Amino acid sequence: MTTSATMTAPVADELGLDMAALRAEFPMLHRTVHEGQRLVYLDNAATTQKPAAVIDAVADYYRTCNANVHRALHQVAAEATALYEAARTDLAGFIGAPETECIVFTRGTTESINLVAHGWGDAILKPGDEIVLSEMEHHSNLIPWQLLAARTGAQLQFIPVLDDGTLDLEAYRKLLSGNVKLVAITHMSNLLGTINPVREMVAEAHRAGALVLVDGAQSVPHFPVNVTDLDCDFLAFSGHKMLGPTGIGVLYARRNLLESMQPFLGGGEMILKVDWRSATWAEIPHKFEAGTPNMAGAIGLGAAVRWLRQFGMDTLHRHEAALTQYAIERLEEVPGLEIFGHAPERGGAVSFSLDGIHPHDVAQFVDQQGIAIRAGHMCVQPLIRQLGHAALSRASFYLYNAEDDVDALVAALHKTREFFDHADG
Ligand code: PMP
Repeated sequence: MTTSATMTAPVADELGLDMAALRAEFPMLHRTVHEGQRLVYLDNAATTQKPAAVIDAVADYYRTCNANVHRALHQVAAEATALYEAARTDLAGFIGAPETECIVFTRGTTESINLVAHGWGDAILKPGDEIVLSEMEHHSNLIPWQLLAARTGAQLQFIPVLDDGTLDLEAYRKLLSGNVKLVAITHMSNLLGTINPVREMVAEAHRAGALVLVDGAQSVPHFPVNVTDLDCDFLAFSGHKMLGPTGIGVLYARRNLLESMQPFLGGGEMILKVDWRSATWAEIPHKFEAGTPNMAGAIGLGAAVRWLRQFGMDTLHRHEAALTQYAIERLEEVPGLEIFGHAPERGGAVSFSLDGIHPHDVAQFVDQQGIAIRAGHMCVQPLIRQLGHAALSRASFYLYNAEDDVDALVAALHKTREFFDHADG
């Protein structure tokens, strides 16, 4: 177990981050894999590890005040409700939401987007209406709109991705001259790492009379995101990608939209008055939280947000930006390695191919050396195909990664290259 002995982290040093102390807070980073090797975890775009503060918040909730929220009049239920609602307040503050009621707890980004597709889209869209997406959308921000288009007769339009991995904003402007009702766009691509100019894109969509949903799955965890500043209508993100538990996420939406939208799921807790054949709905956000919610998850996510705040999202972003730049430079040393995504504004998801070696073989080979990366279609099949591949490999970073992790990956990729070149020869 080497967490600090071999660590090089000049970037972190500059930012005043004590990487050894920081890593010490993540139990998972202290386990070993494949016979005693340090786990080098570089699959953060898929899910992040959890600090003890989050694990403890979840465990403490179950140990000390487990009860169903909002229902009972007894003391522990009141305590559980207070913790659950305090988490909502933490989340509202974290993304600059004007009101706590605009935060709906969901299972994650996917559910948040489906909620909008059903709760807003089913009632509003008509044949001939258009939904503008981009070619870099994750399946979570594609399939719900395909299904909605099939239900309503609306059409999907796509903003092309240019060679450097940025969006074709000229084409976007042209698309906005159509009958566009919604623009649904990722803030940061999980494949290319591109950070899209969402603020400007929102302003342009609004001028064209369209609403904007931002997929914040890869942005909210990694840099400051403020919905008031972005002026977006909807923002979806997942707790598990930002140190929080799995099965919890958020939909932010403007109050007037939430109030006018239909519920997505029906059941207990989301009603005001129920008759045999009809019902009225609870106030927002409860109208969208049918059934017993993920109380432990929300409380854990609140703890994650408080933990992140001690560093500041700006520091986190600067650390990741510097580490990503270092990673790109070092990865390019590996013969036959091609990186996809060269946008000037990019985050720490770095996808690559290694000439002549299948990405699954790359991932398996580096895994043998203790390094966890992802390989596959990364839930963006159409874009990967457009790039001429069936799959790619991806390394993705978080606050606890440093140069030693990148160095380990690069060394493992050199070995992979040598092994396969030798095997071929
Ligand atoms: N959008 C993007 C950009 C993502 O990276 C992901 C997760 N990989 C999702 C949406 C879906 O998130 P979840 O599976 O947590 O719902």
